[in-house]
Amino acid sequence: MAKKRILSGMQTTGALHLGNLLGALNNWVRLQEEYDCYYFAADWHALSSNYEETGHLKDNLLDLAINWLAAGLDPNKCTMFVQSLIPEHAVLHLLFSMITPVPWLERVPSYKEKMEQVQNRDLHTYGFLGYPVLQAADITLYQANFVPVGIDQLPHLELTREIVRRFHDIYKCKVFAEPEGLMSEVPKLPGLDGRKMSKSYNNAIYLSDSKEVMTDKIRNIVTDPARVRRTDPGDPDKCVAYSFHKVFTNPEDLGQIGNDCRSAGIGCVDCKKKLATGIFAKIGPIVERRDYWKSRQKEALDIFYNGTQKARVVARDTLAQAEAAMKIDVKSMFEG
Ligand code: SF4
Repeated sequence: MAKKRILSGMQTTGALHLGNLLGALNNWVRLQEEYDCYYFAADWHALSSNYEETGHLKDNLLDLAINWLAAGLDPNKCTMFVQSLIPEHAVLHLLFSMITPVPWLERVPSYKEKMEQVQNRDLHTYGFLGYPVLQAADITLYQANFVPVGIDQLPHLELTREIVRRFHDIYKCKVFAEPEGLMSEVPKLPGLDGRKMSKSYNNAIYLSDSKEVMTDKIRNIVTDPARVRRTDPGDPDKCVAYSFHKVFTNPEDLGQIGNDCRSAGIGCVDCKKKLATGIFAKIGPIVERRDYWKSRQKEALDIFYNGTQKARVVARDTLAQAEAAMKIDVKSMFEG
């Protein structure tokens, strides 16, 4: 039986941090064993909120390729490609934009949230509002059955499903698969200060950080604020470093650390040294593979180029079906 297809992408907006690694990439690496996975570098999506800062886009794309391969994505098991090299994304986005009511876009929660939160950029653009329409095109071009999602992305996926239904309804056809969300258990990693780990909060540990920088950042992770002196007992549930321990320390040691914290049997400095050991043990192999791929950039880009060729065949076929269903396959008038 043919494997079910998964589609997912990541914006090329900058360095990958441990939150991205645990939240998306490690999950993708697992999924490639079971599904026919298409993963794309969403470089056009990166423009939706960073349209003025395009200078790093190509470097970011290369960095993304290196990170994905270092994390364990394997071109023999999944298809990795670049969105902007497949113009069918833009064409289907345009066609979908013709049938998508504006209020559907305005009610997407992440649109409203980001408009309120982001003060330093003007996001009153069609590109930002129409982001979910481009996303609908990305997903449906590949006839994806599933899209790995977190709870906050469900409204986007629902919008894709609504656009698909509307398209089928208007043009009396059945061209696209209606994608479903694939919820996966991914460990939650906060930022160094306890907020969400994010580049914009300056609270992230990056895969590209040197060991010294990482060690320094780990040393500065926020701890239980009530534990002022070494002799004060602590509460691990109020400590950000302990949230990191939950992800990076093995379960037996984790229980011991919790007990030692509560009884003031361990100081925060030593506790964080143990944490650093756990983090380096888990991400060390990925950092080593990053060095490997950094010295083989051409090979990394070739993998994405070949993946793009393969993906484009699927995208072309789907777009041709959509244009035929809409009776706008004008090209056919000029062919043989
Ligand atoms: S001992 Fe560890 S868990 Fe307890 S407050 Fe300090 S850093 Fe946090």
